[in-house]
Amino acid sequence: MPARRAAASPNHDELHRDVASRLQRLVELRRHFHRHPELALEEHATAATIAEHLRQAGLEVRTGVGGTGVVGVVRGGPPGRTLLIRADIDALPVREANDSAYASRVPGKMHACGHDGHTAIGLVLAELLAGRSDQLHGTVKFAFQPAEEQVSGAAPMVADGVLRDPAVDAVIGLHLWSPVHVGDVTVQAGPFFASADSLTLRVFGRGGHGAMPHHNVDPILAAAQIVTAAQSLVSMIHGGTAGNIVADQVELGGTVRAYTPEDRALLLRRLSELAQGVAGALRASAELTIGGGSDACVNDPAITELVRRAAIATVGAEHLTPGDGRQSVSDDMAVFLASVPGCYFLVGAGNPERGITAPHHSNHFDIDEGALPIGVEVMARAALEFLGQT
Ligand SMILES: [Zn+2]
Ligand SMILES: [Zn+2]
Repeated sequence: MPARRAAASPNHDELHRDVASRLQRLVELRRHFHRHPELALEEHATAATIAEHLRQAGLEVRTGVGGTGVVGVVRGGPPGRTLLIRADIDALPVREANDSAYASRVPGKMHACGHDGHTAIGLVLAELLAGRSDQLHGTVKFAFQPAEEQVSGAAPMVADGVLRDPAVDAVIGLHLWSPVHVGDVTVQAGPFFASADSLTLRVFGRGGHGAMPHHNVDPILAAAQIVTAAQSLVSMIHGGTAGNIVADQVELGGTVRAYTPEDRALLLRRLSELAQGVAGALRASAELTIGGGSDACVNDPAITELVRRAAIATVGAEHLTPGDGRQSVSDDMAVFLASVPGCYFLVGAGNPERGITAPHHSNHFDIDEGALPIGVEVMARAALEFLGQT
């Protein structure tokens, strides 16, 4: 059916051409941030560069928001709703193994998650929308957020008022994603990124001489049983000092991931019960401590539909990834999504034909920069539609 074909094809309209004309700027900005990575809450030069570019584009700019965060505001012509666009800006303590012309110049620090691309997309999108402010009924706010890799950058920005004055009605954000092929986009309503809780489990026994195990309670034995019973929840184990000494105490570390608050509470409760039960059966005892966690990212159905339409207009319906796109990683975009309806989505950035396959956080990580204009175009279309224009 011709109408269906047309709807499925990318829309090569004036907006598409405008975004395409900004490719070189996107690549230059992304490579600048890639060369100069800064870790969580140390993003001072990154924040200064962002603020400078936003001011040049005519945005109202606030710096030092919740630490090293930067907020930019584009006010439209007529009043209306306010959309927040979130981009995370921090790098990782990874030594880059790539030898590209734009490889990290800071030993031991690397944009190994694509946040350099998110920052470039945010800046170019801000320039593009600032140039179309007369088409916007309402306000677009940009949150350049620090410290995502420690899931500790969003909450301070919210506490510092990023969702107020003007009050934010909805939020969108994207993650460049190397497991998804460049040209494809993943948009999904409901739970999308998992919650994460770090946990510490201490197992207590009674130490003594290794040759007299009948006088001791070996917490390592109990810990080993707990690890087996808890399957993949535990990723760190530490205890004991010598082969002939039974330790008093063993410490286990791990992480729990879930997509709903109910599953999250159930998992944590069952893990505590299981540890205490297994330890008790071996005359040891166990104590579970839950560290600062992150909520799941849950996408609002209406905002997700808006983003889906924007993605179809950009890449065509056949390039929306089919099936369940949920990710077991977590992201503090969850803080914004818990406060206002929104959508977090993935823009494919991998390209096996060009050897771009390294996983996120790896020292060989890279993106296909063809993903950058796609990210800008999807967000621009979503913003223009949300604020009353298509
Ligand atoms: Zn990451
Ligand atoms: Zn990331």
